[in-house]
Amino acid sequence: MKRNVKILATGGTIAGVANSATDTTNYAAGTLGIDKLIDAVPEIKNFANVGGEQICNIDSKDITEKIWLKLANRINELLADVDGIVITHGTDTLEETAYFLNLTVKSDKPVILTGAMRPATAISADGAMNLLNAVKVAANQNSVGKGVLVVMNDEIHAAREVTKIHTLNVAAFNSREFGLLGCVNNGVPEFYRTSTRKHTGNSEFSVNGLKALPYVKIIYGHACDDGLFVAAAINAGVKGIICAGMGNGSINANVEEILIRAAENIAVVRSSRCGGSIVANKNFVDGDNLTPQKARILLQLALTKTNDRYEVQRMFKQY
Ligand code: ASP
Repeated sequence: MKRNVKILATGGTIAGVANSATDTTNYAAGTLGIDKLIDAVPEIKNFANVGGEQICNIDSKDITEKIWLKLANRINELLADVDGIVITHGTDTLEETAYFLNLTVKSDKPVILTGAMRPATAISADGAMNLLNAVKVAANQNSVGKGVLVVMNDEIHAAREVTKIHTLNVAAFNSREFGLLGCVNNGVPEFYRTSTRKHTGNSEFSVNGLKALPYVKIIYGHACDDGLFVAAAINAGVKGIICAGMGNGSINANVEEILIRAAENIAVVRSSRCGGSIVANKNFVDGDNLTPQKARILLQLALTKTNDRYEVQRMFKQY
C-alpha cells in the first residue's frame, strides 16, 4: 500500500527560476509554488500519495526563527496523520533547519529535507530527482527512527552531521568524518549506518507554544582578533555566544579573557572553525564536534530549559 507523504515547501533554488536554461547562478530562488514542484515530477505519485503545502517561499539565507517555529509545530501536527514529511528548502541554511527539526520534531516518522543546486529552469536541474528521492526515502519503512534526514544527489545524510561544502556543485553536501547514512541506489533507498545521538522522539526539547528562541550569536575566531565583536555581542545582551575558535577551539588570549568574565552570566560554547572533530574542554562548554552553526541551535534550545553550564554541557554530549 502506498504511504501518505506531505511535502512542505519553503522556497530555495529548487523553486528558483532564471531567464535562461544555461543560467545556474543568476536566478530568483523561491519563485515556483509547491503545486508546480509536484507537477514537474509526476513519477512521485507511483511511490506515495502526496499532498503539498506552502510554508513560505524564500531564499533560505532569509530563514527566520518564526519560520522554524511554524515549521516544527506544523510537522508535529501533520505527523499524527501522515506517514512521512518532505521539506523542500534552499541549500544555504538547509543543514540548520534540518538540525533544528532533528531536535524539535516529536515523532519517529521520517522527516526529509531536500533542495537543489540548480534552478528548476536549468539544463540538468537536480531538483526533480532530489524531490523524487526524498519522497521515496520519506515513504520507506527503514527511514523510521533515523532522525531528520537530508536527501541530496542520491545521498542520505543525518541532520546532525551534514553540511554544505560546495557553493555550486550538485554534490554540495557531505557528512565529513561521519560519512553518509545511506544512498538512493538505482532508485532504491538503502541505509548502511545510523547516528547514535539523541533526536526527534527522544529529544527533551519542545517548541510548542514558544514565540521566540534565546538570542545566541556566533563569533568567528581569526588571527589578530581584537575582541570587538565579542564585546559588541555582550553589550547587545546576548544570552549565549558560540566561539568558532581556531584549530582545537583556540581563542585569542585577550578575547578569552573577556569571555571568561562573560561566562559568569551567559553561556559560552567553544567550537571550531575547522569543520572536523571535537574541541578542548577548557573554561567554557565544549561544543563537541558540532559545527558552530549547529552548536548555536543546540544552545538556543538548551537555554529554553536551563542556564546551568553543566546541564548545557550534558546536552552537548547527548545531541
Ligand atoms: N540561496 C539559495 C537558498 O538557499 C541556494 C539554494 O537553494 O541552493 O535558498
